[in-house]
Amino acid sequence: MSTDLSKFAELGLIPALLDAIADTGYTTPTPIQAKAIPLVLGGGDLLAAAQTGTGKTAGFTLPLLQRLTESSKGRAKPGRPRCLILTPTRELAAQIAESVNTYGKHLPLKSLVIFGGVNVNPQRMAMRKPVDILIATPGRLLDLIGQNIVSLAEVDILVLDEADRMLDMGFIHDIKKVLKLLPKQRQSLLFSATFSNDIRKLAHSLLDSPQEVSVTPRNTTTELVEQVVHMVDKSRKREVLAKLIKDHNWPQVLVFTKTKHGANRLAEQLGKDGIESLAIHGNKSQAARTKALSKFKDGSLQVLVATDIAARGIDIEHLPNVVNYELPHVSEDYVHRIGRTGRAGSNGQAVSLVNVDEVKLLRGIEKLIGKTIPRVEIEGFTGHTEALGSTVVERQARPPRRQSSKGRSSNNQGGGNRQAGEANGNRQGGSGNGNRQGGEANGNRQGGNVNSHGASGNAQGKRPAQRRRRAS
Ligand code: AMP
Repeated sequence: MSTDLSKFAELGLIPALLDAIADTGYTTPTPIQAKAIPLVLGGGDLLAAAQTGTGKTAGFTLPLLQRLTESSKGRAKPGRPRCLILTPTRELAAQIAESVNTYGKHLPLKSLVIFGGVNVNPQRMAMRKPVDILIATPGRLLDLIGQNIVSLAEVDILVLDEADRMLDMGFIHDIKKVLKLLPKQRQSLLFSATFSNDIRKLAHSLLDSPQEVSVTPRNTTTELVEQVVHMVDKSRKREVLAKLIKDHNWPQVLVFTKTKHGANRLAEQLGKDGIESLAIHGNKSQAARTKALSKFKDGSLQVLVATDIAARGIDIEHLPNVVNYELPHVSEDYVHRIGRTGRAGSNGQAVSLVNVDEVKLLRGIEKLIGKTIPRVEIEGFTGHTEALGSTVVERQARPPRRQSSKGRSSNNQGGGNRQAGEANGNRQGGSGNGNRQGGEANGNRQGGNVNSHGASGNAQGKRPAQRRRRAS
């Protein structure tokens, strides 16, 4: 069955990319793709307000692959990438590498992903071959530049992805160092979910007369994610979670805890309740993280318990259930968390187990997303609902409606109004929660090459907890 890709073709994409898109099953460009692709193909700089889940990765990857293919500058040289994609976390780097691989599979371009926490030697070896597209976290990139393994002198296209998160994680100095090493003549693209004054300042120093595009943060407006709150005493949260999973027979649940220790404990306790679950966070070895994530993705693990940074960038199509076992201290993390479900056109459900101590956090989240999340009472587990002063709906959470995977349209993301704490640069994030684990994340896809030289190396890297937030 051939897919009608006329909407992608109208954006100006070449047949090799349309063929790759056809293989993914996408039929319609998402709003960020429809806006960004023609602009990037045109060669100008871009400032894009879009977060993970909007289809932004294809929004920059497709046109940059095309520009590199059509460039008259010719082939890449060893250690001298023509395109640099900087990301805050290893996991996002791996995810982007996978997308580059997917969309570039009919093109002769080479890509490589490098990040910390794994053996550097395979990455050094891989950089001895020509690399067109280098996807990197800042720390490992600077390490390899310092060792004269990588030079940025030939970079024609720079992508800074999740720029807000990079600043939150303390990468500004690393980014500035990298910027100094780039040629002045280049195309630069900056993607950020939010626009604080710091991001605007960074954009100003980085971009030359950029075009601006913006899509609504998916989860602040989408109806695709059904959000509910269950008020539950702290001591009974585990019981409630086990009940929900069992009663609804949830097949694939991503559960968020605040701390690594809490994630471990919960995974263990769920195991005792007969629910197979594993934890993923920065104190786990790379191998353990890789294993947990791939089991979760292939459906053989029912529950993955994660901390915020570890889950950053986890992209699982049609992930039906996300549970906030504890609310995040940073309201925006709620949006990121529930962004794991209801992605690109499929339905999902986000359940938050809230105890009285968390009511303030809940109110902060509701202010951020601009709506009240329905409180749903679970029989026998009534928590301190009165503390909320809000209607309690007398029913239990329903399993989400599932959609078929083919022919999904992504018209859920509409253009327009941004919300989510961006207006005056008044971000709540970045500090304050104290339990972000710099540079966690999994990296289960190693190599990430359009035409292969795998080099993200394999598992090593336990990271000391609570160090400076570095992805590498
Ligand atoms: P991203 O925002 O780049 O993290 O992408 C989120 C998800 O959307 C990924 O699972 C992509 O595979 C998917 N996606 C990207 N573009 C499209 C599209 N045009 N139609 C349907 N799904 C898409």
